[in-house]
Amino acid sequence: MSLSQSVENILKAIYDLQLGDQWVSTSALADRLGQKPASVTNMIQRLARAKASLVDYTPYRGARLNPTGVKVALEIIRHHRLIELYLAQTLGVPWDRVHDEAERLEHVISEDLEDRMAAALADPRLDPHGSPIPTKDGQIAAVVGVPLSEAPMRATVRVTEVRDEDANLLRYLGAMGLYPGAEFTVTGREPFGGSLHIRFNDQDLHLGEEALPHIRVAVQT
Ligand SMILES: [Zn+2]
Repeated sequence: MSLSQSVENILKAIYDLQLGDQWVSTSALADRLGQKPASVTNMIQRLARAKASLVDYTPYRGARLNPTGVKVALEIIRHHRLIELYLAQTLGVPWDRVHDEAERLEHVISEDLEDRMAAALADPRLDPHGSPIPTKDGQIAAVVGVPLSEAPMRATVRVTEVRDEDANLLRYLGAMGLYPGAEFTVTGREPFGGSLHIRFNDQDLHLGEEALPHIRVAVQT
């Protein structure tokens, strides 16, 4: 399979936005990719018309990956997340820097290198941000938990996943030790959309409101 980098990025973006099998509007796609809607529509139409197409396109509804397209997207995501974990775990690259590196490398590593990285990491299930790594045969585990903004007061929660694209957010959370697996108790919240108070490792911390939707937690029972 040799697709261009921009095609692979479109497939990944559609996969991200289609949440199962919903149609993704070309304007939402353009937003995600930081490109002009007209050029994205153009590219999608071209992809949909191609022989052995990976994408379905319907005017006014948008784009959707067909089952082969989903497989290809999951393969790119597998590369991305394996590379992130390899960089973080084996090379010691800080977790706020692995995403940008993986964005580039995901398009170029061979299947052989992918297999060797997976073996070196003992066939890992999660990347450094807690996101599931698709299996070689294209299965992906569901992400568990709810956004921290929805966690109930007094609940003890465990961080399951943090959004990987925002390096500032990752540095902010890393400085407090809030990596996937960290467990803390929600102790209070400032009114009017203010910060969340938590108790973590015998410390009282305040978490900025804008960070909350990007942190996924499992509520412990
Ligand atoms: Zn990433």
